[in-house]
Amino acid sequence: MNTFEWTNPTSVAEAVKLLRVEQEGAAARDQDGVPQPLGGGQDILTTMKERITRPARLVNLKGIRGLDKIEGNARRGLRIGALVTLTQLEEHSEIRRGFPGLAEAAQSIATPQIRNLGTVGGNLCQRPRCWYFRLEQVVCLKKGGTECYAAVGENKYNAILGGGPSYIVHPSDLAPMLIALGASVVVEGPSGKRTIALDKFFTLPKEGNVRRENVLNNDDIITEIQVPASAMAARSTYLKFKERSSLDFALSSVAAAVEMDAGGTVRQARIVLGGVAPVPWRAPDAEKSLVGKRLDAGTLAEAARLALQGAVPLEKNAYKVPLTQTLVRRALAKVGGATTA
Ligand SMILES: Cc1cc2nc3c(=O)[nH]c(=O)nc-3n(C[C@H](O)[C@H](O)[C@H](O)COP(=O)(O)OP(=O)(O)OC[C@H]3O[C@@H](n4cnc5c(N)ncnc54)[C@H](O)[C@@H]3O)c2cc1C
Ligand code: SF4
Repeated sequence: MNTFEWTNPTSVAEAVKLLRVEQEGAAARDQDGVPQPLGGGQDILTTMKERITRPARLVNLKGIRGLDKIEGNARRGLRIGALVTLTQLEEHSEIRRGFPGLAEAAQSIATPQIRNLGTVGGNLCQRPRCWYFRLEQVVCLKKGGTECYAAVGENKYNAILGGGPSYIVHPSDLAPMLIALGASVVVEGPSGKRTIALDKFFTLPKEGNVRRENVLNNDDIITEIQVPASAMAARSTYLKFKERSSLDFALSSVAAAVEMDAGGTVRQARIVLGGVAPVPWRAPDAEKSLVGKRLDAGTLAEAARLALQGAVPLEKNAYKVPLTQTLVRRALAKVGGATTA
């Protein structure tokens, strides 16, 4: 690990100042020397120990008061501070009752020890898990090199949708569920506060800077996540398939939320896939296909087909297509109250 400065701001304004990069055009948060914020430290300290990132300064956000609160309920919507831990989310009674998919997504992550420390802001901004990215010696496209080694190498865990020129999959389990619930993030930087819909927050490698995963500038921090009250929140779920142990990231996951009318047909639906694309992957055609329908086997199968349309598997990850289709069917059957899918 390189030497670095540890700072403990007590206000958002002070944190933003400490994150400022003096040189023009500092491109990526992981560029050597760029100061970085620290939430629970569950990802950033690992990347530093493994010499994948070398910030000259860490800006510890945990001394900033008021960012560790959850406010609201199903009627008013939620305001979740960026320093709220995954355990707080998972155990919050209003969330368990009114936004069950969000509690399930938090509970699906890693171990109780990691959930006790990992924060919501850090979970959304954690770096990708691609093996090549995590190996110090490998300088792939995402680390400033010229090649994506996963494209033709070990790509069992990589993207089947939206990939290229990097084929990472987005690692956060909270992100797909929060997008399905229509959440936004409040970001604070040198020019003040702005609110960004979470489905506009993450960026595809082909859309912008391949070294970044979201629209944050170096001196921006997330301070809050807002989840609106919605008729879909109570019928929300998060299903995640892990390969081996509770520590595993999603091979594939599905966040689903629906509103049903009294006659048992779907009024509106959201489906967001995790573990299959560089960003949480919304499936709008599948969502539309459900409107006005009962959630019977034929409707579920068609929605699952549409959700994966456009998938282009790499050599070793075609298994993700049927796996994700099964999760889509099961998630919709669960929120619709069916017993099998
Ligand atoms: C073994 C293991 C297994 C895991 N499995 C999963 C899993 O299955 N699913 C899953 O979703 N997660 C998983 N995680 C990630 C974990 O859940 C944490 O959420 C994650 O490490 C980041 O949370 P943190 O608060 O510790 O962030 P940190 O490590 O402090 O920060 C992570 C990144 O976010 C930035 N950051 C932190 N806070 C902010 C903020 N407020 N605004 C802007 N940028 C910020 C940091 O600069 C850094 O780049 C796993 C972690 C480990 C170690
Ligand atoms: S998928 Fe992205 S992180 Fe992985 S090797 Fe390719 S460029 Fe690097």
